[in-house]
Amino acid sequence: MSQVFITSWKELPEPLVSSVDAQEAAFIETLNASGGLPFMVSAHFAALAKPDKTDPIRQQFMPYPAEGVPDPFALADPLGEAKHQAAPRLVHQYRDRALLLAGGSCAGYCRYCFRRVWMSRPQHFISGEELLPVLVYLKGHPEIREILISGGDPLMAEDGTLATLFQSLRIARPGLLLRICTRLPITQPSRLTLETVRLFRAYRPLRMVIQSNHPRELAAGTQEALRTCVDQGIPVHVQTVLLRGINDDAQVLAALFRECLQLGLSPYYLFQLDLAPGTAHFRVPLKTGLALYEELKRHISGLGLPVYALDLPGGGGKIPLHQGVIAGEQVDSQGLVYLLQGPEGKLWPYPA
Ligand SMILES: *Cc1c(COP(=O)(O)O)cnc(C)c1O
Repeated sequence: MSQVFITSWKELPEPLVSSVDAQEAAFIETLNASGGLPFMVSAHFAALAKPDKTDPIRQQFMPYPAEGVPDPFALADPLGEAKHQAAPRLVHQYRDRALLLAGGSCAGYCRYCFRRVWMSRPQHFISGEELLPVLVYLKGHPEIREILISGGDPLMAEDGTLATLFQSLRIARPGLLLRICTRLPITQPSRLTLETVRLFRAYRPLRMVIQSNHPRELAAGTQEALRTCVDQGIPVHVQTVLLRGINDDAQVLAALFRECLQLGLSPYYLFQLDLAPGTAHFRVPLKTGLALYEELKRHISGLGLPVYALDLPGGGGKIPLHQGVIAGEQVDSQGLVYLLQGPEGKLWPYPA
């Protein structure tokens, strides 16, 4: 079997490998030495890229020296997940839903990853022992009606491992809605076999949330895998991260969301970038994002319009972004920030 994951840029296919310049190659070496987010991409995703530094696929997995530029706004835990930790690997921030960090690895490292610090250390899939306190917590908190299974990427685990996890959750909480958060249908579509989709079916209510940032990611294999889900009665929702130089264009986003509708997928969130270290070069200025979203609204059906949202840095929670969300501005020690109103009325800073 051919190698599925590429962990050295020298193993990239031609002509991509020739597009890696000396600066990039040197930067990748320093990542491995410094414990930064390593270089890794699935062979499938790499094959979608073009040998051009501005290519929207290449930029998502290729480390760029810009990652090394210190960002005064960077936060190791940008969503403040540690604040809402209910048990190891369980985050309970919103009353009726909780987030399980089940997965260990991913099928590649997205350079804009908000769990960059967590992903930079090797993790394993949640063990039976680690799951016990999670199950106890879920039994003791009947107000939780939904669990997000995220990671890493839960689909990196084998079907048998997933089945054991789903079974344990089902026994603890029969009606609990399972939300599988995964990017593998994009990066490794062959993983989503009919057997896996049937496993999902057996544990309904279950929904899948994927991440897609560009229409070119919806390759033939991905379309087929997602059609199988839809055909088998597994609702699929799509999250998109707004990324500078990749999809910060209303036409590109409209094309992506239209394609999602064609496939029977529901665009869900368009995320303003979180403040993870090494990702500032991907940040679309908030006012640019707001203008872009207004333009997007004019281009697509309401069915295809995701909610433009931000996870307030430091644990403030998700808020929808719209014209008028900026309640004020001030100059903090790191620079100019906008003040955004959180769910409880408190003002939270986000870089301008
Ligand atoms: C995003 C998130 C959720 C889910 O929020 P939705 O608005 O339902 O998508 C749940 N828990 C945590 C900690 C989250 O970050």
